[in-house]
Amino acid sequence: APGPGAAPCVPRYVRVNTLKTRVDDVVDFFKRQGYSFLGKAGSMEELRTLSGKKFLLDLHLPELLVFPPQTDFHDNRLYTSGHIILQDKASCLPAFLLSPVASSHVIDACAAPGNKTSHLAAILKNKGQIFAFDLDAKRLATMNTMLTRAGVTSFKLAQQDFLTVDPHDPKYSKVTYILLDPSCSGSGMVNRLLVEEAAPSAERLQALAGFQRRVLSHALSFPAVQRLAYSTCSVHREENEDVVQAVLQEQGSAFRLVNVFPSWPCRGLATFPGAECCLRASPADTLTQGFFVAVLERSEESLKQGE
Ligand code: SAM
Repeated sequence: APGPGAAPCVPRYVRVNTLKTRVDDVVDFFKRQGYSFLGKAGSMEELRTLSGKKFLLDLHLPELLVFPPQTDFHDNRLYTSGHIILQDKASCLPAFLLSPVASSHVIDACAAPGNKTSHLAAILKNKGQIFAFDLDAKRLATMNTMLTRAGVTSFKLAQQDFLTVDPHDPKYSKVTYILLDPSCSGSGMVNRLLVEEAAPSAERLQALAGFQRRVLSHALSFPAVQRLAYSTCSVHREENEDVVQAVLQEQGSAFRLVNVFPSWPCRGLATFPGAECCLRASPADTLTQGFFVAVLERSEESLKQGE
């Protein structure tokens, strides 16, 4: 295991922005820059042992390229022109698993700085509509620049507390998908582990979990919502499985957990029946940041009752 201050062994993941380019073109670009392309990874071991000027296509996610840890592309022309997005693999899971169909209306409830919004827009091929909210003006300004650079056109950005967004406003009557990536303790971020930041106190975890429960309940109150992805970059069950369990309980049988990505190697902690439908991610198990995702879907019984 790496000692204190040692480099984390998380590869550099590069998401190809399909609004601007294609995987093949990006692969050719990096080959011209002297990297050798090893094709699609067949195992986690291949990702773990990647070194030198070599790169792979990820084995789980399409449009994701994998380079050795610490490869720095912040000055790369493809990055500064929005053709590639430097995004951890785990953070690509929510939009990928939400998987909105083209032309849908989608809410990104806590959206800045917008990596997941731009991923949603790529999945939607810029068709449909994304309503994105965030409280933080500075992060929203960064997001606006990033989305413009990434060629995202189908979005409306608002500086607003998502908890005050009216679910019954006719503007949102066609919102069938919600991505909810609320503020969390960030305890899964590898850099945090490196600086040995103090673990969040019980009080802080409780306060965050209270907010996360409220915001998840609020999201599920949008009348047309069919599918929601909830995610955090926390490793604490209080912010993850416990939030999902409490809100599912409160909703009765209206929503259920979807058993997403059965081949993903790391599942939710078995804290309640069905928790294994959730996904976890960690440097050791998935070579990513620490992360959690749950996908909830309106259950068929509740759809029939609403007919
Ligand atoms: N989804 C973003 C991405 O992938 O780039 C990261 C989101 S970050 C984990 C959480 C965000 O939630 C922060 O930008 C924070 O300002 C925002 N936030 C916190 N409370 C909020 C609220 N009540 N309504 C809307 N946004 C909120």
